[in-house]
Amino acid sequence: MKVAVLNHINQNLDIEEREMPVPHENEVIVEQKITGICFRDLLTREGFFPRLKTPIIPGHELSGTIIDMGTGVYGFSKGDRVTSLIYKPCGRCLNCQSGDENLCEYKQTMGETMDGAYSKYVKVDQRCLVKVPDNVGDELAAIGACVTGMIVHAIDRVGLISEGTKILITGAGGGVGSHAIQIAKAYGAEVMAVTSSPWKKEALYKFGADHVIDAGEGFNKRAKEIWKDGANLVLENTGDATFNESFRSMGFGGKMVIVGNLNPTSVQLPIGILILKGNSITGSISSTRADVTKALVMSSKGKISPAIAGEVEIEKINEAFEQIKAKKNLGRIFIKF
Ligand SMILES: [Zn+2]
Ligand SMILES: [Zn+2]
Repeated sequence: MKVAVLNHINQNLDIEEREMPVPHENEVIVEQKITGICFRDLLTREGFFPRLKTPIIPGHELSGTIIDMGTGVYGFSKGDRVTSLIYKPCGRCLNCQSGDENLCEYKQTMGETMDGAYSKYVKVDQRCLVKVPDNVGDELAAIGACVTGMIVHAIDRVGLISEGTKILITGAGGGVGSHAIQIAKAYGAEVMAVTSSPWKKEALYKFGADHVIDAGEGFNKRAKEIWKDGANLVLENTGDATFNESFRSMGFGGKMVIVGNLNPTSVQLPIGILILKGNSITGSISSTRADVTKALVMSSKGKISPAIAGEVEIEKINEAFEQIKAKKNLGRIFIKF
């Protein structure tokens, strides 16, 4: 089978032939029709993740059908449509056993410390598997863990979103932002989308945004012209480029949940404002199986439409990376097998 491999940091991926994977105890083989290409994969190529081991098959947005199983697998059968967490939790630590497996210190991450999903056939441990409802398409299944489940974790489990929450979403035109708008609307929130790509504005309204504002200097003032009491919740998808402004967009008691850091760097925190306004800032990492399940139920109920920017053959993976880097895509680009 053909796979895409990152052999060296900062170089293009190579297409290589590999043997079909063989499932061991508690493992299944998933046959994929498509898999998602994530900005995280670009960061992986650039060596952003210190735990990265090369050579590695990148990718972690998996969707497909179980075609083979090792011993000891329970609750899943051949023919089941599944998606996977983007990591393999240890299953034994306190966080794993408390339903916080995203905080497992011993987890292995797909495409980073273990081979990932840029491959038609992928070996997956059953601890990572989540069943996909029949009426949920392959695209929404593929992004069930990294995108929609991750957003559910960030804005629901961490951000405690509820009916009427005023949420500001940065990087709103990207793969995460475009789905975050829809999910926040499904929770009954009022959504302000912030984008640095003015041509995406109309699409962001279509995804359900109540307000769309331009990123760039002083956007907190534009946000406060619309919400004079500020945002209750900020979903920060980009990091340093928007942090200062999104921080100042919060109202008293506002909470910022950070899920993205596109330009690995540090930010300056105005501590005085943080104290005086009782703001909080918290990171949110990935999703648990409970979050993915919730996101798939929302998908199944038609509350989330996948933002699909296109499909490419695996041989075109490097071109797709360039397109994503240049922000030319509105939504996800998928590899089709
Ligand atoms: Zn991803
Ligand atoms: Zn664990």
